[in-house]
Amino acid sequence: MACKNTTQESVLILGAGCFGLATAHQLANAGYTDITVLDKDDVVPSRFSAANDLNKVIRAEYPDLLYTDLSLKAIKKWQTDPLYTPHYHETGFLNVTSSAATQQTKNVVETYISSIQANPAFDGKVQRVSGEDQIHSLVPAFNGPIPGWSGYFNRLAGYAHSANALRDVYRDCVRLGVKFHLGPKDGEVKSLLFAAARGVNICVGAKSRGGTLYQAQKTIVALGGNVCNLIPSLGPQVTGRCWGVAHIQLSPEEAATLRGIPVTNVRDLAFFFEPDQATNKLKFCHMGGGFTNYAWSQDGLSVPYPTLSESKLLPAGDEMQIRKLLRDVFPQFANRPLIDCHLCWFADTADSDYIIDYVPNTDNSLVVLSGDSGHGFKMLPIFGDFVQTLLEIGRQAEPKWQWKGSKSKVGSAWRAGAGQELVAIVPAKL
Ligand SMILES: Cc1cc2nc3c(=O)[nH]c(=O)nc-3n(C[C@H](O)[C@H](O)[C@H](O)COP(=O)(O)OP(=O)(O)OC[C@H]3O[C@@H](n4cnc5c(N)ncnc54)[C@H](O)[C@@H]3O)c2cc1C
Repeated sequence: MACKNTTQESVLILGAGCFGLATAHQLANAGYTDITVLDKDDVVPSRFSAANDLNKVIRAEYPDLLYTDLSLKAIKKWQTDPLYTPHYHETGFLNVTSSAATQQTKNVVETYISSIQANPAFDGKVQRVSGEDQIHSLVPAFNGPIPGWSGYFNRLAGYAHSANALRDVYRDCVRLGVKFHLGPKDGEVKSLLFAAARGVNICVGAKSRGGTLYQAQKTIVALGGNVCNLIPSLGPQVTGRCWGVAHIQLSPEEAATLRGIPVTNVRDLAFFFEPDQATNKLKFCHMGGGFTNYAWSQDGLSVPYPTLSESKLLPAGDEMQIRKLLRDVFPQFANRPLIDCHLCWFADTADSDYIIDYVPNTDNSLVVLSGDSGHGFKMLPIFGDFVQTLLEIGRQAEPKWQWKGSKSKVGSAWRAGAGQELVAIVPAKL
């Protein structure tokens, strides 16, 4: 495949979240000398980024070999690259269901384990676990009844402190000469700029909320759940969706008893991590079908609430699942207040495939990085490679990542439960 040297082109990246920073970092390392990044928050990591979090799961089991192979590549970097190793904790991943799970949710766990059982990369790393005795001997710190938990434990996995990893990538971008414009006036993108030429609309840059114009030969949009605000034509492919996240505060002594526990996903209830090392907070997320926000949109798109304060809530149904999980695994914390509750927004596709492609009819001037579908953070160390390849080849050779123009027919069967509209939910009383 013929590759162009595109390093002399000016590049404007909209969004300094996971995909935007990974791209800026890779391109700067590859010799691109004119890279500008805009973000609406005045700090990086942005408080609007889904990846600005205490922790994200790093694991490679996927029913789809493409993502398994890429995640294994990313894990190698998390394990060995000095930029990423300080943030990576290989605690293992316990992926189970409780006795209350539906057969469909139990089948999802089966799909994951069968996807890696024959893969030599996981030799000696994965074991099936079933029942209280086996799980207690694997994780003695789980002192609740853990009724009917069953699934597998994967040692080649863990979590990364995602906010800290983003911060270090950002600092390295600055060291490499990437220019950043942050904040509502200069960093928040209001619109794209187009010039008509050769019968198509060429994107020539973007305009900030404060009216600053940024021009570039390539504009790369990486706005996470907000992408459809800027590129509404993505609406048929991408849905802004969110999950609720909550923490509980542990004392240093309590946290010490849980050091090194695996990332644990009880798929019908919620998932959690070892307590954060700096704050001793335990994070929980009930990863059900997620929540959409179509109601406030005039053009039929589901997009995130515009302000942080509007997203500071936890659906009551999520609290129920988290409390049940606590009673099952850590009864001593079952009534601890849930704090830092918020909705975390991402860009969802029906088949969970990323979209990394040129926007049609823009003469390759406009690129979109989207469709993270809630599983993009683990790729931070290698995501920029995908974008560099796209720029050099001039087209997306991976069919799964192409702009598709319509919704895929395949549903996200790996999520427990159906999606709900936010207006229909009752917030937890916290
Ligand atoms: C609850 C939850 C749990 C998750 N858990 C995992 C996990 O365990 N493992 C994993 O791999 N992935 C996980 N993810 C997914 C991961 O966080 C995302 O895949 C990743 O953050 C996507 O990166 P992004 O750059 O597309 O979006 P984001 O990281 O959200 O970044 C978007 C950026 O765009 C900026 N922005 C928005 N609008 C504008 C504007 N108008 N102008 C300028 N800037 C703007 C924002 O400030 C932000 O910095 C999870 C996601 C959620 C919601």
